[in-house]
Amino acid sequence: MNISFFSTQTYDKDFFDKHNQPYGFDLTYYEAKLTDDTCTLAAGANVVCVFVNDHLSHPVIQQLAGHGVKLIALRCAGFNNVDLKAAKENNIKVVRVPAYSPHAVAEHALAMIMTLNRKTHKAYNRIREQNFSLSGLLGVDLNGKTVGVIGTGNIGQVFCTIMTALGCRVLAYDPNQHASITNLGVRYVSLTELLSQSDILSLHCPLNEHTRYLVNADTINQMKQGVMLINTSRGGLIDTKAVIEGLKSGKIGSLGIDVYEQEENLFFQNLSEQIIVDDTIARLVSFPNVLITAHQGFFTYEALSQIAETTRANIKAFVNQKPLVNEVSI
Ligand code: NAD
Repeated sequence: MNISFFSTQTYDKDFFDKHNQPYGFDLTYYEAKLTDDTCTLAAGANVVCVFVNDHLSHPVIQQLAGHGVKLIALRCAGFNNVDLKAAKENNIKVVRVPAYSPHAVAEHALAMIMTLNRKTHKAYNRIREQNFSLSGLLGVDLNGKTVGVIGTGNIGQVFCTIMTALGCRVLAYDPNQHASITNLGVRYVSLTELLSQSDILSLHCPLNEHTRYLVNADTINQMKQGVMLINTSRGGLIDTKAVIEGLKSGKIGSLGIDVYEQEENLFFQNLSEQIIVDDTIARLVSFPNVLITAHQGFFTYEALSQIAETTRANIKAFVNQKPLVNEVSI
């Protein structure tokens, strides 16, 4: 079984080589993103293994089918970057890793909240320059604050548990309600109520046609003055230009994002010697109350191990013509 990996980083190779040892699949790693231009690299492969910013558009999928690819194995949970209709038409199955350490992403959301609130990133730099002043580092107690959670699946539930343990009042919005968190005291409310009451808002829903630009000028207007907004889910959930206006007016008091709508041109690369032409990210970086991380929520040892193991199991099930428990289809 030949498997071509796209968007490969050294850590992908380390974890996948380790998990492949007992099975001996033939793995080929490419640093390149899967696009129209790089599709030919998949020639001779039965499976392509891809990540969040690979482009599985209609033309790419057609090309993959022409090269003999039969399976797209996503090594992530989200599948918004795959044209599922095209995959079906071309008789290519799609599998994903639906859950891998929800703690990794939920804890990263907490890290962003803690950093933005207590400004430890600024304190770190100050102390290195022998500036021991506390001016400008004032935060608030999280205890007693209202946290709004949009999306209470695997990650959202862990996040609710963490915030409840910190003494926060947690409100949730999700078309599917989960008793495990209502038992903790989390209260499901309407989106309008959640937006108007939350001191901190954290997004944990998938990106789809219903949730694209869920955070926009209108919903920002409904939020509390000075709200902290955290997005560790997908960049397309927020209209970044509207959020910039919200930051400029002070309606949004602080912003933590691990994902960005145009991240595919930036994230996972060292661009420190280049001129960034994306003025939107450049503006975001310029705000003192904005924290950006480059899609690292998933990046823990436990999560990478689970991603490699589930992907291997997905491919093995496909090879052995067993049911594909992690298949995504339309
Ligand atoms: P999940 O499928 O377990 O949960 C998603 C929840 O969102 C579900 O309960 C669903 O009912 C809810 N939902 C769907 N539409 C909604 C809407 N319109 N409003 C409110 N809720 C809605 O997914 P998960 O494993 O918890 O992951 C959540 C998201 O986190 C993924 O879609 C992915 O985009 C993102 N993610 C990010 C990273 C990272 O590294 N930053 C890693 C993994 C996942």
